[in-house]
Amino acid sequence: MRPLIAGNWKMHGLTEDSAALARGIRHGLGDLSPEVLVCPPFTQIAAVAAILEGSGIAVGGQDCHARRLGPHTGEVSAAMLRDLGAAYVILGHSERRADQGETDALVAAKVEAAVAAGLIPIVCVGETAAERAAGEQEAVVGGQLAGSLGAEFAGVVAYEPIWAIGTGKVPTIADIASMHAFIRAELVRAQPEGAGIRILYGGSVKPGNAAEILTVAEVGGALVGGASLVAEDFLGIIRAC
Ligand code: PEP
Repeated sequence: MRPLIAGNWKMHGLTEDSAALARGIRHGLGDLSPEVLVCPPFTQIAAVAAILEGSGIAVGGQDCHARRLGPHTGEVSAAMLRDLGAAYVILGHSERRADQGETDALVAAKVEAAVAAGLIPIVCVGETAAERAAGEQEAVVGGQLAGSLGAEFAGVVAYEPIWAIGTGKVPTIADIASMHAFIRAELVRAQPEGAGIRILYGGSVKPGNAAEILTVAEVGGALVGGASLVAEDFLGIIRAC
């Protein structure tokens, strides 16, 4: 399976900034072969999808609502994302789990909604620094997998240690390998398609460390925050594949 390099643009940039970033990535990609995904803010998905049309670069959302429709002021459904050209949606990012109090059960409901609308969910899991210091990382991530994926998950999992997100800190290669092996074992044990589920690593991935991280067993790509906001940096990570 080709690696998937996914950029999470979070709440950055106005439409013209995102359009320029999308053009820069499209222009620089050439015939590089990884699967590439960008997840702009909701309001810019249509513009970015139009710029990337025919490029092979996929577009995704950063969240969706758990319900198909209804009286949920300010919310965006999975079908609305699909309607704008999205193929993927990031769910259960640690920033949403912290800022919006999203639980595993809510993430599982969103996974169901995303799949029903034809989107591929990317479910984020990962431990805090305190949990790792206490040796609880496997218990925490195991619990998140059990609670967030549902019974027949066929999307993508992103392992993102919270303490590595946006901090420049990265786990050792041995720790990344060990957590990815643990996640694979949990997926195989609990999911009918567990052996084939792609597992991304996320947390301070940069052009300078991507090659080493992306060759770790069971690392099927990267979810990239900060470095996905600069076309040359994101392309550097793609080239590292
Ligand atoms: C993220 O927020 O998903 C992320 C991985 O961010 P960064 O690459 O900036 O650590």
